[in-house]
Amino acid sequence: MPSLAQLDHAHVWHPFTQMRDWLKREPIVITSGKGAVLRDTYGKHYLDANSSIWTNLHGHQHPKINAAIARQLKKISHSSALGFANEPASLLARELVKSANPKAESRKPKLEKVFFSDDGSTALEVALKLAYEFTRRTRGPKTKPRFLSLDGAYHGDTIGAVSLGHIDLFHKAYGGMLFKTDKVMSPYCYRCPFNKAKPERADARDHRKCNWECVSLVEKKFSAQKKRGDPYAAFVFEPLMQGAAGMIPQPVGWLKQVTNIARSLGALLIADEVMTGFGRTGVAANVSSWLTPPDKGLPRSNERSHETCFACHKEAVQPDFLCVAKGLTGGYLPMAATLTTQRIFDAFLGEYHEFKTFFHGHSFTGNQLGASAALASLDILQSKQSILARATLEKTLAEELKILWALPQIGDIRRVGLVSGIELVKDWRTRKPFDLRERAGIRVCEAMAKRGVLTRPIGNVIVLMPLYCTTAAQTRTMITALHAAIEEVFSKH
Ligand code: PMP
Repeated sequence: MPSLAQLDHAHVWHPFTQMRDWLKREPIVITSGKGAVLRDTYGKHYLDANSSIWTNLHGHQHPKINAAIARQLKKISHSSALGFANEPASLLARELVKSANPKAESRKPKLEKVFFSDDGSTALEVALKLAYEFTRRTRGPKTKPRFLSLDGAYHGDTIGAVSLGHIDLFHKAYGGMLFKTDKVMSPYCYRCPFNKAKPERADARDHRKCNWECVSLVEKKFSAQKKRGDPYAAFVFEPLMQGAAGMIPQPVGWLKQVTNIARSLGALLIADEVMTGFGRTGVAANVSSWLTPPDKGLPRSNERSHETCFACHKEAVQPDFLCVAKGLTGGYLPMAATLTTQRIFDAFLGEYHEFKTFFHGHSFTGNQLGASAALASLDILQSKQSILARATLEKTLAEELKILWALPQIGDIRRVGLVSGIELVKDWRTRKPFDLRERAGIRVCEAMAKRGVLTRPIGNVIVLMPLYCTTAAQTRTMITALHAAIEEVFSKH
């Protein structure tokens, strides 16, 4: 085994990894990446099929982001946001505010304050603490604010974020450390007990037979809590698609309905766009209308769009807190932000001696290198070229995924924009799941890696989340590799 792999085995403890299994085989050691391709110590090339754990947007070594970081590096390493402002963080806050308030949402509360932190978990912690304290300050200090999140939710690994989570496998062991939150059914059409439709060779959302019982349950939950005289302080959700829950997409209209209910029954809205943000869920409808031939109505090449960024705007939902991370810097550096409204901000204003300050923050808050990368990434994201490339990639992905339906182990293929989850089952006719101990998802991903495509499963769900620079040929390679991997793994079954 080469020395780097040996060093890893000797000392590195990997996240979400059974290290006994890890130590049985030589790890792939990644040394470089360009565009959608990663390279290992042997010089072998792999397609990055999950955008390096959902972080990378425009490709590795993007010349514009590389240049922005290099420019910034010549100025400073880092300066503290505790006591000082800095140029890239201020500029980035302005750009994030523009992106988070598209024209169509102009009548809703404006998200105009940005609290920077380091990763998705911390972005959620900030929203959670602000919502908690805002609620106590507005409802009275004796209030014990309660939160509602979705079944299967994952919002990160810090203690507050884990408290919002509802994945027993990850969260149960830490029950004693957590505060109690409530959960409500998430709209998992493929495995919904209210969905009367028989399995079909199509996305379960498209042929569901139900009466929106999932929405009624949300309504019941909020109403019951209000009747107890203690309305929920906040509703926490991933808009359009729950990621780590297993890429669970919401049927069109669900988000609008449940957020209307939550608002009308007094709850703040916390949108976790750590995974879905920055165009992951596809270009916005108003932008896709630009794509009609021949370039009709297209913005001039130097024009920018602020319409494409966030999933919640696709259902005209404007939250009180918008949490972003992963793709914020284009996937280059750990940086996150929690955007919120003037109303929340004002609740923390006071004379010094009143101690209404938000006593929270991190050493690297507002990091100058991260903010420079993020500014460059947003600039690329909002360019005509990126919008067109993403629209084309989305079409290619939708088309290529269809070949997988031919396999009996494909239960559901669910895609929202550029995020897809492919659920493996024993037989599509019965929807019978593989026992997690069979490691079906892991084995398929290992077989894909042999074919030069890297992704990571969520249980029995294979994630395909291409970088925005992925070509049509690379998309085809990804899906062909998945097809062949499934055949290989289950022919031995
Ligand atoms: N929220 C969501 C929706 C996520 O997918 C994740 C990470 N997968 C997080 C929060 C936590 O982000 P991080 O790992 O950067 O702390």
